[in-house]
This record gives sequence, C-alpha cells and structure tokens, in this order.
Amino acid sequence: MNFLLAFLLISSSALLILLIRYALNWLATSYKYQLFGKMISRVNTNEKAVALTYDDGPNSPYTDDLLDVLQEFDAKATFFAVGESIKSNPDVTRRLIAEGHELGNHSYSHKQLVNISLDTIRSEIQKTDDVISDLGFKANTHFRAPYGLKRIRLPWELAQRKKVSILWDVDPKDFENPGPETIADSIVQNVKPGSIVLMHDGMQDGDRNRSQTVAATKLALQQLQQEGYQFKTISELMALEA
Ligand SMILES: [Zn+2]
Repeated sequence: MNFLLAFLLISSSALLILLIRYALNWLATSYKYQLFGKMISRVNTNEKAVALTYDDGPNSPYTDDLLDVLQEFDAKATFFAVGESIKSNPDVTRRLIAEGHELGNHSYSHKQLVNISLDTIRSEIQKTDDVISDLGFKANTHFRAPYGLKRIRLPWELAQRKKVSILWDVDPKDFENPGPETIADSIVQNVKPGSIVLMHDGMQDGDRNRSQTVAATKLALQQLQQEGYQFKTISELMALEA
C-alpha cells in the first residue's frame, strides 16, 4: 500500500514537472502571449502597410547596401541592432537614423535571454540603450529578444521599462541563404496588411555575408510596391492599429 502511494506521488510529481517544462517552453516561443507587458507580431490594420525589420547588425558593408536599396524605393525599415555592433559601426547607425529608419534594441551581445539572471538581462538591455544614447539618439526603443526567446524575467524587465516586445509574422528564413528569389517569394506570398517581416543585415552565429538579403529586399520591394504596399517603421505601423 505504502509502495503504491509512493509510486503515485512520484509519478504525479514527474508529470507536474513535465507540464511546467512544457508550459515554460511554450511561453518562450509563443508569438501570441507573454506574461507581462506588450508584445506584437503584427498590427491589425486594413492599410496596405508592412514593416521590414533587420536583425543582428549593423554589419558593414551590407547595412549600407541595404540602406541604398531602401532609399531607392523610399521605403522605411527598422533595425534591431546588437549593442556591440552599434559600437563598432557608429557611422552606419547614424546614417540609418538620419534617413528616417528606426533603431531597435536587440540586446548587447545576442545571448539567449532565458535561463539567465535578471541582472544579466538588465545589463544586456541597458548597455545597448547606453550605446544608443551615447550616439545622441533616443534610447527608449522597442526590443526584440535574441532568437525571439522570452519566458518570465525578460517580459517582466521589458514591462518595467515600458518597452514593447516586437516579434514577426513573416519569416522568409534569409539566414539559410536559399537565394534572393526564394527569400523574396516567401515575403511576397506571406505578407498581408500590418505584417512584420523578419530579416537579417548581420548574423551572430552564421554567415555574415548578407548580400542575399540585400538582393531579396530589392526584389520584394519591387513586387510589393506594385501591389500598392507601403513600407513603414515599427512605430509608424503601430500607429495604424485599428
Ligand atoms: Zn538576432
């Protein structure tokens, strides 16, 4: 009898641990829900407007190449930049802001911000804000979690700082370098009014040559502009929320 009781207790606590682990993993990668603060992966609007976003830069010369393409189409974008890279590429950072694009915070060193202390999370956010304000720009920017991962501590800290957590609803997987046409087709087929597109002008754990992303951006801009789309920064897109 005692043996049976012990067996039941052990198996039910093992089940509970499994359930908690499942819930935490779901929270880490959910695009629809987080425990604290505001998170968006798209904006509800009927206007044909999208936000192109570029992560992990700035990264010379690809960020400059991208800015040339965006300028050609009079398109605005948002760059979720890594603090370390802003520090080593201040000129292109100044250029992107001067040309009307938006700068977002993508942590300082692109660590996963799950299973990590609150102190580390704070310093990863704060150091990037400091680099941005050292350049003379507004530091209270939107935030995108490295790898899109968040559980409890990161959303909590972002909520304290009134930072919105920005995810995406269109992921053309440009980091796999499948060719500019494949990347552009994936964008054109999946975009709808209010979409947020994830791309990379830098690459923390992979190929830093982002020429496919630059070429794909040009192709996608050509096609989507013909369909009547406008290209806005994240803040401009959020202002269209119906
Ligand atoms: Zn990233």
